[in-house]
Amino acid sequence: MPTHPDSQRNEGTLPAPTWQGAAAALDSTDQSRNQALIDTTARITGAMYVYVSLWLVITLFSGMHRTHPYLVWGAAAWLGSIALVRGVVGHQLKRLLDYNPGLAHQLTVGLVLCNGLTWGLLTAASVYFPELEPIRTSMLLVGVGLSSGGTVAMAINPTLKVWFPVSVITPVALATASNMTQGNLMLAGLMMVYTVYIMHASRVVSQDYWRAQVAYKALEHASLTDTLTQIPNRLHFDRQYQAEWRRACRLGTRLAVMIVDLDHFKRINDEHGHPIGDTVLQEAANAMRQAIMRPCDVLARYGGEEFIVLLPDITEDGAHVVAERLRAQVANLKIAVPTRSTHVSVTCSLGYACTIPQHHHDADEPIRQADAALYKAKTEGRNRSRSWQAPSPLRTSPHTTA
Ligand code: GH3
Ligand code: MG
Ligand code: MG
Repeated sequence: MPTHPDSQRNEGTLPAPTWQGAAAALDSTDQSRNQALIDTTARITGAMYVYVSLWLVITLFSGMHRTHPYLVWGAAAWLGSIALVRGVVGHQLKRLLDYNPGLAHQLTVGLVLCNGLTWGLLTAASVYFPELEPIRTSMLLVGVGLSSGGTVAMAINPTLKVWFPVSVITPVALATASNMTQGNLMLAGLMMVYTVYIMHASRVVSQDYWRAQVAYKALEHASLTDTLTQIPNRLHFDRQYQAEWRRACRLGTRLAVMIVDLDHFKRINDEHGHPIGDTVLQEAANAMRQAIMRPCDVLARYGGEEFIVLLPDITEDGAHVVAERLRAQVANLKIAVPTRSTHVSVTCSLGYACTIPQHHHDADEPIRQADAALYKAKTEGRNRSRSWQAPSPLRTSPHTTA
């Protein structure tokens, strides 16, 4: 369900002064970290089966399965088991993130490192033990390919970006250091240069990813925010409304829609000018924002001097209390007009409708009803709230407050 940055109380603050600052803020949020884990896993789908396949190709073609059957089949079983567990975890990753995000991160990272370390140890063994010489070159070649490709593919994960190449390269480096022949010294030198290079390459990939994330978030924020009042706009309201409507249908809960219209706003523009009108809109939006208490409630600019409020899971009395709180907040405003050393006051009228939605209902109907109730509030004198009542002679009187 799309959520507006303002309604995500646990999200980092955007925009930040630099993309690095914004990326750090993003990376510190659970939502972005989880998304990065999903993206990382998507980039390496299938990679886990590569290890066991390559190991079998190298050892079977070199005839090692005849000379070292325990090593060949034991390592194949181990790599195959990791691949299976990685496959299951990857397949169930979204569910696991919902259930236990910490475990999802640890399992994913741990299994990848397990693969890297296993390959590193097998390659180190091929460097260290002379009888494994027939597979040495192939193991080194594949190790280089796996660690460079893997590191770049997983660069968006801060842990894997560093520890995956380390897990592959360290055992090989230790094996070469333990036997300082000229050939091994050259190998160690090559590995150092190579490690520095892939670390740099993974840094570039990581930067590109987080830059794109920051730009995407900024764009999403802009597309869902009203530029004048900085509260959510109509697009955001429509999305949230659809989502809350479906949720209320599923759960059988009530929701309320409220339309707020500033009274005689044209006069304010005419008497004080458009810039002051804009300030009044901003102050009214700000005041109303403070009257909206629950994170699931949505206040949005609907257009011009109209605002719309979505109150999920609320009673009719509850909606009346919120309507009156909004009305009082706006009525209490005193907006300074610097050029005339005076203040502008403003009032608003509100219409709202409560409903228990059902799948076959028209989702636009409560909005039309709230609009009809608003019209009633206007015609009965403004600066008041009215609830929509079904046109039945048996209905009792609506909430009325002047
Ligand atoms: P009522 O009490 O019946 O709602 O009267 P009203 O004057 O508020 O309503 P009307 O629809 O006649 O006028 C709305 C005005 O709101 C007209 C329009 O110029 C002004 N308006 C709409 N959007 C903006 C805006 O972004 N900034 C400013 N300053 N004025 C705006
Ligand atoms: Mg209007
Ligand atoms: Mg108006």
